[in-house]
Amino acid sequence: MSTDEARYKLNYVYAEDFGTGYFKYGPITLRDKPYMIQSRGLFLRDLPESIKLLIPREILERGVVVGDDIPKYLSSVRDAIRNLKYPLRDGIIRKEDEDSWRIVKELSRYGFSQFHGEVSRRSDFRGYYLVVALSALAPDYMRDRMIEVHREVNEEFGGKLIQAMTIIDQPFAVAIAEKAVTCTVIEAGHGNIQLVPISYGPIREGIVALNRGGAEANAVTREVLKDSGYGDLAKDEYVVEIVKRSVGLVPRDLDTAIRKARENPDKFAIKVKVNPLVEVELRDTAWMRFLIGEVVFNPRHDVFTSYIQQGRLVIEDATVGDMVFYGEMDVAEALVTSIKKVPVEIQDKIISTIILSGGAFNWSVPPGLEDVAVDSVEKVRIMMSERVPDLAGKLSINMVKDPQFSVWKGSIIYGYALPNSVKWNDRTKEGWYFFQ
Ligand code: ADP
Ligand code: MG
Repeated sequence: MSTDEARYKLNYVYAEDFGTGYFKYGPITLRDKPYMIQSRGLFLRDLPESIKLLIPREILERGVVVGDDIPKYLSSVRDAIRNLKYPLRDGIIRKEDEDSWRIVKELSRYGFSQFHGEVSRRSDFRGYYLVVALSALAPDYMRDRMIEVHREVNEEFGGKLIQAMTIIDQPFAVAIAEKAVTCTVIEAGHGNIQLVPISYGPIREGIVALNRGGAEANAVTREVLKDSGYGDLAKDEYVVEIVKRSVGLVPRDLDTAIRKARENPDKFAIKVKVNPLVEVELRDTAWMRFLIGEVVFNPRHDVFTSYIQQGRLVIEDATVGDMVFYGEMDVAEALVTSIKKVPVEIQDKIISTIILSGGAFNWSVPPGLEDVAVDSVEKVRIMMSERVPDLAGKLSINMVKDPQFSVWKGSIIYGYALPNSVKWNDRTKEGWYFFQ
């Protein structure tokens, strides 16, 4: 890479991580922390005429809003449930799902609009080098369509916004951010968990996907709120999200944790002040705090089974194309399944370095609860040691520093390092695709 190229890229690499829950985006100059908005869009359909008059014409014509604009319009749109859409629920957008593609485009446009004004005034700016991070399970047509979408975004900004783009798998970006050459990445997002063995690049045959993530912890939190007498608040996703993060715990062992919490509810009782008017208190149901964390790792427990039977929780397989997202498979089984699919010769090496990333692994242990609660690293270690006792003590399991941002960070590093001379290859879907 020439020094000119390197110098240019120090300012003008830009990455977009299309998560199932959050879209992270921004240029290399943000360093460690991308901007982040929810991966969702609100269609401005079914609007009362009186409201239309108040909305800027340009927004009305675009017909879809994202980010901070959503709360402003949410109460005006009739049938908000139908018109508020999360395009990447399982990390994948169906080919014909035009609504979702429109939201993706708007997410991208919204992101770039926050930086465009400033960079377009710079004399050396000749367009960003854009890295788009997608699920390891994203089918090829999604990669092609992403190029189309960004070509359109580029045109909307006068054709000088994006010089070239490339695409990377989210778990591979994590490995790059961690400078790990041979490892397994477990990326636990909002909608699903991806397990990807890596040896210089993702090993496709070994990819295992679970149809669970932070969203299932939200679903359990909702049930906890209902059982604690907060049926109304349970309907408010905003409240559920805050309560989940404040009360959720990952048990060392679920049965033991439940028993201890039932014996001593005072020790586990907790109050959450959502805002000055809304407070949630768990006391008799404090033992349920452990269900919130456990469901991410292992939903095969009688408590969950009974929720599922009562229709209070949905944990099921999902098939997308020829790929199955397992609903109930626990994380240790998923890891073993994944490793078994890579060549035996490198299995040892791949399994000995396990990297955890993604917001759904972002659990901590409150002081005083260390005997029953653990963080994600410890949880995976315990589960793996039970499943494969021979591996106990041999695993190096680490959590990335910023679990929600490591994909974005790795994408930026990738964009910086991938030489401009590597042109897009339509078969391998790698390299730079130049727009200009
Ligand atoms: P995605 O990439 O799929 O959008 P992220 O990696 O951004 O997912 O993680 C989002 C998920 O992480 C959400 O379900 C969110 O509730 C969860 N999350 C983030 N921080 C925490 C936390 N401190 N405790 C529990 N869950 C968290
Ligand atoms: Mg993600």
